[in-house]
Amino acid sequence: MKAAAMKAADLPALRDALLDTMRAMGEAHLNVGTAGNASVRLDEPRPDEGGHGRAPRMLITPSGLPVPRCTADDMVIVDANGSSLGALAPSSEWLLHRDLYAAFPAAGAILHAHAPFATALACQRLDIPPFHYMIARFGGPTIRCARYATFGTQALSDAAVAALHERNACLLANHGMVVFGRDLSHALALAIEFETLCEQYWRTLQLGNPVLLSAAEMAEVIERFRWYGKPRGAGTDSDH
Ligand SMILES: [Zn+2]
Repeated sequence: MKAAAMKAADLPALRDALLDTMRAMGEAHLNVGTAGNASVRLDEPRPDEGGHGRAPRMLITPSGLPVPRCTADDMVIVDANGSSLGALAPSSEWLLHRDLYAAFPAAGAILHAHAPFATALACQRLDIPPFHYMIARFGGPTIRCARYATFGTQALSDAAVAALHERNACLLANHGMVVFGRDLSHALALAIEFETLCEQYWRTLQLGNPVLLSAAEMAEVIERFRWYGKPRGAGTDSDH
């Protein structure tokens, strides 16, 4: 998975796309009011970065402004050292976004939401086990729950980076979810898929503990997703 190329000339289009993504998160019931935020990478990861290099510039949603009142011009550029360009302050979770871009070169866009079912599970502080094979879409046999830390802090960033090792989504304890994708539309599709899995897990727990897939069964699914992700594959975005 490679982050999409983001050039300065694309900035107006990226502003529109970021605002559209926030609106779509609301329509998909991932976010309500001012909760949640989204960003898109502005600089390509450098080949020598190795996942822990200098943070890239990003475009991120503003702090505390309800989505219906936002315009594309309200989206905020944050540079590598954390200073921002724009009339509004960046989202209170800008540090989380910046640290995830620095840690995960495959992250081209990041979404954070207090989606109802994901948040309900996050309040139980449990990893989501392999109750359904689609868990493998997020990189492994489980989706982890990051340890609790106060919103907007370095401790929360560190917890999320650890929980996202070899994954592209995690729960944040007593808080919500974070998901990254190669671009905004990919990240949005994954976030909706993640919330759907959380709802399915929540529903099956009402009936008792589900039968879990074995390590071998999940390894086989992960391998198949790897192949389906190739250019001539059947595609992993919509047809499973
Ligand atoms: Zn939050």
